[in-house]
Amino acid sequence: MTSTEGIVPMADGRPDTAILLAAIEFASRKHSTQRRKNEEASPYINHPIAVTHLLADTGGVSDLVTLMAAVLHDTIEDTETTPSELDEHFGQTVRKVVEEMTDDKTIDKAVRKQRQIEHAPNLSCRAKAIKLADKIANVRDVMESPPPDWPLARRIEYLDWTERVVAGCRGTNDALEKLYDEVLNRGRAMLRIGEECLTEGSRSRP
Ligand code: ZN
Repeated sequence: MTSTEGIVPMADGRPDTAILLAAIEFASRKHSTQRRKNEEASPYINHPIAVTHLLADTGGVSDLVTLMAAVLHDTIEDTETTPSELDEHFGQTVRKVVEEMTDDKTIDKAVRKQRQIEHAPNLSCRAKAIKLADKIANVRDVMESPPPDWPLARRIEYLDWTERVVAGCRGTNDALEKLYDEVLNRGRAMLRIGEECLTEGSRSRP
């Protein structure tokens, strides 16, 4: 028996690794035609895998529900996956955490982003931990391989927004919070240099 029996219906005596790999396989199929917005147009699945890796490695998270929900966190929002499909394959507990991570895409983007800030303090501990890892991965992406059409100002604004979401998730996982702060500070320092270069450039322009 695994500790997740009853919580994850498919557990059924299977090892946790097999169940986690089933979630990875499911998510990779669902995201198979999607690409990230970066210049390289990386496969979308790289993102949920990176988030899950951060939780397990940096965050020391071994809770199977959290890791599965991290793998699946964008399936409802960004693919045609339905909540009942997640119920059926992975159980209600995992589905509920994924739903906590799901933005309502019928709402205007600015409102949606504001809601993420407002809702963060009310998330479950599992969703907060995933949110922390998600924002670390996103800030890294915006610094290391940003969408080519994002000017400096938009990247700065994005970092500021993640900081406000993360503020509502603190007190959940020290290691992830510390890493987020490091990644944010490094990102800001890099963008500040970029800004100075831009100002220099415009000053030296005749
Ligand atoms: Zn994400």
